[in-house]
Amino acid sequence: MLNDPFGRKIDYLRLSVTDRCDFRCFYCLPKSHRGFETPDDWLTPAETERLVAQFAALGVRHVRLTGGEPLVRKELTEIASRIATVPGIEELSLSTNASRLDRFAEPLSQAGVTRLNISLDSLDEGKFKQITGSRLQPVLAGIEAASATGLSPIKINMVVMRGLNDDEVEKMVEYCLAHNLTLRFIETMPVGEGGQAATERYIPLTEIEARLRRRYKLQTAAMQGSGPARYFQVDDTGLVIGFITPQSQHFCETCNRVRVSVSGDLHLCLGQEDKLALRPLLRQGASDEVLQQAIRAAIARKPERHHFNETPTAIIRPMSALGG
Ligand code: SAM
Ligand code: SF4
Repeated sequence: MLNDPFGRKIDYLRLSVTDRCDFRCFYCLPKSHRGFETPDDWLTPAETERLVAQFAALGVRHVRLTGGEPLVRKELTEIASRIATVPGIEELSLSTNASRLDRFAEPLSQAGVTRLNISLDSLDEGKFKQITGSRLQPVLAGIEAASATGLSPIKINMVVMRGLNDDEVEKMVEYCLAHNLTLRFIETMPVGEGGQAATERYIPLTEIEARLRRRYKLQTAAMQGSGPARYFQVDDTGLVIGFITPQSQHFCETCNRVRVSVSGDLHLCLGQEDKLALRPLLRQGASDEVLQQAIRAAIARKPERHHFNETPTAIIRPMSALGG
């Protein structure tokens, strides 16, 4: 088992399969960003499988594929099917912007992906373009394709920003209700230049929750793989909404995860810089025992919590480097 010094059990790995993206969400990957990882440094599908096997041997049970945009990585389906067959891995999920999901939902489901998180910040074509630099229609088609494959639950993630899309919160509730989707609202985080620029649009989600309570009855609900979100059932419908509040109510005491970048850096906290480079070990032929020992030693250094409120300009890597 992987336990950190604060008594937290680490059983969840977020694996970035690329730091590239076909979108440029301003709060994540600004157009000005330079310094992408070079392809020679990307972990290959075989290296990724070997690394995941080490985490699984140490007690990791859930892997999430993320990015950048995972669907721009050509080998994504191969990576997914390799991970799905690693002994000990019980759950393989994917975070995506859905722009290419109409083509890939079915093969990814066949490869063993069981759950999806999809980013959707606006249902207005113009605003969507303003936020992401891209088009809304392929995303809506991707969501429909994912629903048609039977992948469930599909969770929609909406980063709520003042004066930009906060007027669409109720519209998003109605959209998710009509399409049988789970909806999660997320606070902006000051990660990277984009995240720090978005701070001026920050809204504490307690404000959105209070607004929704005036219109809907919200009853506390349980959700599989709930992670840091607080969930509520809306009226007597099947719709569940969640609030992810890294800034206003941080949830670090229940953190169960670590992250690996596309080039094999093990990051111990999204809001801190502590990391360990695993690629050199993999490429120098380290044994399973050496790799597992290195991972254990790194987890023993996992920070207690992020300091987004105290030092909001500390993290300069963009969110797209680690996938949230
Ligand atoms: N491209 C995929 C997607 O958009 O779902 C996966 C990677 S993306 C970095 C993962 C999540 O991080 C998305 O839901 C996105 O909205 C969120 N995110 C990115 N930058 C953020 C920021 N500065 N604050 C809060 N959430 C952010
Ligand atoms: Fe790309 Fe996802 Fe970041 Fe948007 S949030 S730029 S879709 S990685």
